[in-house]
Amino acid sequence: MKKWFTRSALAAACLAALCGCQTTTMGGATGSDRSQLMIVSAEEMNQQSAQAYRSLLAKAKQANALNTNRSYTNRVVSISKRLINQVGVFRKDALRWKWEVNVLSSKTVNAFCMPGGKIAVYTGLIDSLKLTDGELAAVIGHEICHALREHSREQASQQAATSIPTAILGSFIGSSELASGMNKVLFSLPFSRSMETEADTMGMELMARAGYNPEEAVNVWRKMAALNGGGNSVAILSTHPSDNSRIENLQSHLPEVMPLYEATLSKKPTGTTRTKSRHR
Ligand SMILES: [Zn+2]
Repeated sequence: MKKWFTRSALAAACLAALCGCQTTTMGGATGSDRSQLMIVSAEEMNQQSAQAYRSLLAKAKQANALNTNRSYTNRVVSISKRLINQVGVFRKDALRWKWEVNVLSSKTVNAFCMPGGKIAVYTGLIDSLKLTDGELAAVIGHEICHALREHSREQASQQAATSIPTAILGSFIGSSELASGMNKVLFSLPFSRSMETEADTMGMELMARAGYNPEEAVNVWRKMAALNGGGNSVAILSTHPSDNSRIENLQSHLPEVMPLYEATLSKKPTGTTRTKSRHR
C-alpha cells in the first residue's frame, strides 16, 4: 500500500513536472495566483460539463421545473449578467464563454456554476433563505469564481494523478475512467478549503464591482449557518460548510472590496457579454 502510494505520489510529481502547473486567473484586488495542477484538458472538462448541464436541464424540463417562474428567472438572469460583465478582471477569456443561466423549481437549497459558465439556481435557495439581490449575487458570484478558477478541472486532475497506477509515464488515462471521475467531481465532491476561500474572496470582489454591497456576502453565510432545513434538502451546505473561519475570512477582505463597491456606485455599468437563458 505504502509502495503504491509512494509510486502514485511520484507519478503525480512527474506529471506536474511534465505538464507544468499553472494558474487560471490573474488580476483584481483579491485574485489568487496559487499554482494549480491541470492534467485534464479544459476542453474535455467543458465538454463533460456541458453534457451534464444539458442532461440536468432536460430532466428539469420534463418535470416542468425549468424556468417556470418568470420573475425568479428574470431576477437570477439579471444579477448573473451584472456579475458576468465583471469576470474580465480575473480572466479576459471568460468574457467570451458561452454563459448560460437557468432557474430550477425545487425545494433543494443549492446553486452552482459548472465549468465553462453553466449556472443553475434552485428556487429553494432563494425562498428558504429569503435572499436579497445582494445576497443572491454573493452566492452566484462565489459559484462563478469556482468556474473562473477551474476548481473542478483541478480536482479532476488531482484525482486522475493520484488514481493512476505506476508506470504512468508513456501511458494515458482511459476516456471512460476520465468521464466517471469528472461526473463525481461535477456533482458530489466538495471543493477543498483553499478553493472555497478563493471563491469566497474573489466572489466578493466580483459582486462589489457589479455594484452589490459585499457586506451581504457575510449576511448570506450567516443565514446559511442558521438555516434549519425545514424538510428541504440543504445541498449547498454539504459542500459549503458555513463556519466561523469562512465568515472571518469574508470580513477580513471587506476593506479591500468596499472601495470597489463605492467606486461602482458612482459610475454606470459597462461592458456586455453573451448570456444565454432559456425560457421554456
Ligand atoms: Zn464553493
